[in-house]
Amino acid sequence: MSRPPAGAPWPTAATRLVALLGWPVGHSLSPTMHNAAFAEQQLDLVYLALGVPPDELTGVVQALGASGAIGANLTVPHKQAVVACCEHLTDEARLIGAVNTLAWTTDGLLGDNTDAAGLRLALRAEVDLHPGQRAVLLGTGGAARAAVVALARCDLEVVVVGRRPDAAAELAALATRAGAPEARGVDLADLAVVGEAVASARLVVNATPLGMSGEDLPEPFHALHEGQVAYDLIYSPPLTPFLAAARAAGAEGHHGLGMLVGQAAAAYRRWTGQAAPVATMSAAAMRVLTAH
Ligand code: NAP
Repeated sequence: MSRPPAGAPWPTAATRLVALLGWPVGHSLSPTMHNAAFAEQQLDLVYLALGVPPDELTGVVQALGASGAIGANLTVPHKQAVVACCEHLTDEARLIGAVNTLAWTTDGLLGDNTDAAGLRLALRAEVDLHPGQRAVLLGTGGAARAAVVALARCDLEVVVVGRRPDAAAELAALATRAGAPEARGVDLADLAVVGEAVASARLVVNATPLGMSGEDLPEPFHALHEGQVAYDLIYSPPLTPFLAAARAAGAEGHHGLGMLVGQAAAAYRRWTGQAAPVATMSAAAMRVLTAH
């Protein structure tokens, strides 16, 4: 699947498609990252973002497979619904209960989830963590499900904080199934317990959208101190009030671009069998973010 020689027309009739399916998709950095990587490795692939309404998802997935696409990514709101389209699921997709990567293989349509691997790659590259340290995660939505699996796989004790205590408890159970040495759910309304958990954590992760438009997190999450690490799954803007407060107090602060690039790199390897050029993907995404 190599491209024609430099200077020859491209794309050609042999060029194969990889698609992002979401609703909406206009904001996505995935086409930028993947097309930069395909170009660097001279792969005859093109990545396009397709806006797919929820009731069209099954038909679009079938049409992509029938027309020779090699793979796809799924974003909001399709990650759970697409599970029903898959003939096979990886253990990771089954554990998380959601699929963000499809690959059409000789055995049929495979559903995978690379979000947890993406966060784990980012944490490994950016943060010094040791088994048994405590991680506190705020949020119980789709991204939080992948995040608790990543934290568990780093051998961290996991405290899940949510405004719905039943959802926090369910994610704590998921962390235990994923191998966390200890996990519990905490009600966000229980501020004293939340404050104690945050104060004693090595790593504090925001998996809510709070901060995308300048919102503060609940008070205990703005009381970090030196020796702690704040990780915000948000990458746009790259500096949220949560990260700004953490850095002002002497803690480390990391935005979520590393996780985004990490999940893309794992999907890229699944489609192409090659290691992704991670630095190229990251630089391409950063150019778009800083141009805004
Ligand atoms: P989601 O499924 O809608 O979940 C959002 C979570 O935030 C829910 O648990 C929700 O609680 C909670 N929440 C929202 N407002 C809150 C508030 N005022 N107080 C307390 N909790 C609140 O969204 P998602 O897909 O998980 O995404 C979450 C964030 O992660 C987004 O900012 C997204 O951009 C980011 N993300 C980043 C990456 C990456 O690669 N870096 C990947 C995926 C997502 P309820 O359940 O009670 O409503």
